[in-house]
Amino acid sequence: MCEIRVGLPEVNVLGVDDGDLFLEIHVECRRPRPGCRFCGVLAQLKDQRIVTLVDLPCFGKPTRLAWHKRRWRCSEVDCPNGSWSEEAPRIAAPRFAITDRAGRWITEQVGRCARSVNEVARELGCDWHTVNDAVLAYGGALVDDPGRFGAVAALGLDEVLFVREGPFRRPQFSTSIVDVGRGQLLDVVPGRSGVGPRVWLAEQGSSWLAEVAYATLDLSGSYRAVFDAMVPDATQVVDPFHVVKLANDKLDECRRRVQNETFGHRGRKPDPLYRCRRLLTKADERLDDKGRGKLLGLLRAGDPHSEVATAWHAKEAVRELYGHDDPDLALTFVDRLAADMDDAVHPVEVRSLGRTLKRWRLQIAAWHRAKVSNGPTEAMNNLIKRVKRGAFGFRDFASYRVRALLYAGRPDWSLLQSVTPTVR
Ligand SMILES: [Zn+2]
Repeated sequence: MCEIRVGLPEVNVLGVDDGDLFLEIHVECRRPRPGCRFCGVLAQLKDQRIVTLVDLPCFGKPTRLAWHKRRWRCSEVDCPNGSWSEEAPRIAAPRFAITDRAGRWITEQVGRCARSVNEVARELGCDWHTVNDAVLAYGGALVDDPGRFGAVAALGLDEVLFVREGPFRRPQFSTSIVDVGRGQLLDVVPGRSGVGPRVWLAEQGSSWLAEVAYATLDLSGSYRAVFDAMVPDATQVVDPFHVVKLANDKLDECRRRVQNETFGHRGRKPDPLYRCRRLLTKADERLDDKGRGKLLGLLRAGDPHSEVATAWHAKEAVRELYGHDDPDLALTFVDRLAADMDDAVHPVEVRSLGRTLKRWRLQIAAWHRAKVSNGPTEAMNNLIKRVKRGAFGFRDFASYRVRALLYAGRPDWSLLQSVTPTVR
């Protein structure tokens, strides 16, 4: 009965010790005496030691499997084979501090359900590293499965803050590589300089790269250079989200500058420009008559040369770009917008916005034809952020990568029971 409960094949249960902290199950392998793998002579028992492994909780209590592990030695005097330990990968992979079934269970808890390593470690009554190592070993094998993704038609690059490090909490970035069409995280590489993605793309090989028809990006020059070099025939597409965000950032910059020049200090509560900061970035159609009246009044009071108003109109014009879906008009629209904005009478922020639109005119207009966007990339980044919250930030990039991919990289979870764990 006890052996059925323990649920491991080919073991004898020697006893169960219900201690204060753990339930300890003592087992030994039920196997005939092996032959020497060199000469075939039946082995002799050399000694036996107890290896204690973290196992799945049993009856709600943290559990240890105490494996009475035999060491054998060849009895043939002239044989070069010395001594060896018995191995049973169904119990535990060599050199692991956990049972095999606990390793697979941990990987599912952390990788698929995005539970934190701390939480799972608490449930098992073991330390953080034991759990994290298991996720890396089993989960790493799962995410490196070559069948995890195939040809990709729409590829996206996006930066994600990975961790803040050092005495000044300097931000460290990573780049997500995403199948934008399917919404699958393909990989995560360190940095946002473009070196990481370039190496990764080169590793995929030329026939894989040839399948990429669309390449989506934010308004980042380094990712553009990566695509220019690695997938020169792909149509580059800038996601509307980033274009509208840039227009809003420029509006905000303009508001702060005019505030400073007009009032000689940063915005405070009673200042009209400070009071309208949220109304400014809100989409026009989401303002009711009262909101619009308030916005105009505040601008009259705080924006003597109508600079903020101009930046606001520029932002709304950028948004209008996405209000129609005629691909043939899109480029004309972008060009006219860019030319209108880059005019000496306009505030510097609006002119700078116009120059950016000009630099990215093809990539911005391409969105209307491609109908792919970085939208799924953004969704992916939100998933990664969720994983990061569950982990209280990541120190170690390898852990971050494996866990992000387990969660958002669509591994084939049906392989979990058969992957071979690898020590990293
Ligand atoms: Zn031998």
